[in-house]
Amino acid sequence: MTRAHPAGPLHGGLQIPDGIGAKPHDVNAIDPLVWPEGAVRVGGVLTIGGAKVTELAETYGTPAFFLDEAAFRARSRDFQTAFEGMDVFYAGKSFLSSQILRWLDEDGLGLDVASGGELALALRSGFPAGRIAFHGNNKSYAELETAVAAGVGRIVVDSFEEIDRLDEIAQRRDVVQPVQIRVTVGVEAHTHEFIATAHEDQKFGMSVSSGDAKEAAARVLGASSLRLLGLHSHIGSQIFDLSGFEVAARRVVDLLRELRDQHDVQLPEIDLGGGMGIAYTSDDDPLRPKQLARSLRDIVKRECAAAGLRTPRISVEPGRAISGPPTITVYEVGTVKPVQLDRGTRLYVSVDGGMSDNIRTALYDAEYTCVIANRASTVEPVAARIVGKHCESGDIVVRDLWLPGDVQPGDLLAVAATGAYCRAMASNYNLLPKPPVVAVKGGVGSVLLRRETLDDMFALDTGLTGAGDGEETG
Ligand SMILES: *Cc1c(COP(=O)(O)O)cnc(C)c1O
Repeated sequence: MTRAHPAGPLHGGLQIPDGIGAKPHDVNAIDPLVWPEGAVRVGGVLTIGGAKVTELAETYGTPAFFLDEAAFRARSRDFQTAFEGMDVFYAGKSFLSSQILRWLDEDGLGLDVASGGELALALRSGFPAGRIAFHGNNKSYAELETAVAAGVGRIVVDSFEEIDRLDEIAQRRDVVQPVQIRVTVGVEAHTHEFIATAHEDQKFGMSVSSGDAKEAAARVLGASSLRLLGLHSHIGSQIFDLSGFEVAARRVVDLLRELRDQHDVQLPEIDLGGGMGIAYTSDDDPLRPKQLARSLRDIVKRECAAAGLRTPRISVEPGRAISGPPTITVYEVGTVKPVQLDRGTRLYVSVDGGMSDNIRTALYDAEYTCVIANRASTVEPVAARIVGKHCESGDIVVRDLWLPGDVQPGDLLAVAATGAYCRAMASNYNLLPKPPVVAVKGGVGSVLLRRETLDDMFALDTGLTGAGDGEETG
């Protein structure tokens, strides 16, 4: 039996709340652009990786992340294949676990890390240090020391202080450390727009326009224990437009030419960063890896030929484009509350997680697609908002969407494309344990990260454990 809410129906020309788009044709639809490859409804129930979401929720509880293993691997292999003759470094900060590292290693990808913790996980998982790139604007002395000792293949330096520190560490250890310089080329890209002037007012990189990038190159070239491999540029995130990458590539090649003229060196590598956009909703139109690879290869080749430079080896660093789309979050609905507004009614649907497992909506105004996963419904859709259970009115998972008017407590909601920057940015706000991440393949689940327990959380509380002087980790 279905039950229509007092909220709806909002059809027939009635007013609807601000911010929500036109009512979709079919709120039960599973758009293959947004959902993991092969996700379909079977008897109304959403399935991913061949498993019914209802059964996964029964086994692993909610909230939980379910990762379609085949889809993840297909995406990393797609990049690897499209960028043949170039290098693909997966940006580990988007989502990392030891099993993910094993898959990437098997498929021959490199890895970006941006902290000592990410580096430690990679090394403990047996990921080859030579294929790791280490990023960050404020790597600690201890982190640099660990990276040099482990033989990390490239450290991307981001300040003059770091160049000095790293040279000293490498010298003391009697090794020569390969480095790239993170340069700011004055391009910032987000979604469909990029800005090719200014935008130097941020913490990352050495500015090309101020001359800092050139000065950094001079210092690295003069450092006895550093070897300058090349230049690195990362222009933004969730980019759908090739032109930002193209302008950045041109500016990086310009700098290569200036360094050749000034120092008589031809640097062998350039890295053009990550930020390739994915479809969070049916309105997004992501770049295809092949398209991007061809365009970058052509531009760099052409610009280098014009400057009389040997073409350097190109690398890229997709994070979200590999880890985002294969994973969904499944929540259970706890309460449903119609709220009357000047312009119509909004149905507040509360789930058993929220900003602790997905901070992106609150932090970046991110958009997501969400459906009722345990059944299809033909009841008229209503304007809804998916909210979490935290003590914050900004605790919103999906700001504006249409859901069947009979959505009710006990329903499962699935949110698409939550594999990147959700579990990775998860917190224990309100002391909610972090949800598990379960890989699903051939209808079978296997836990990558188990659900956090109260004991896991409270293990740090010395008043409960009596373990006064916990070991500091560096
Ligand atoms: C964050 C980041 C990436 C990955 O960004 P995505 O948007 O996940 O592709 C790559 N390179 C650098 C230097 C980054 O900071």
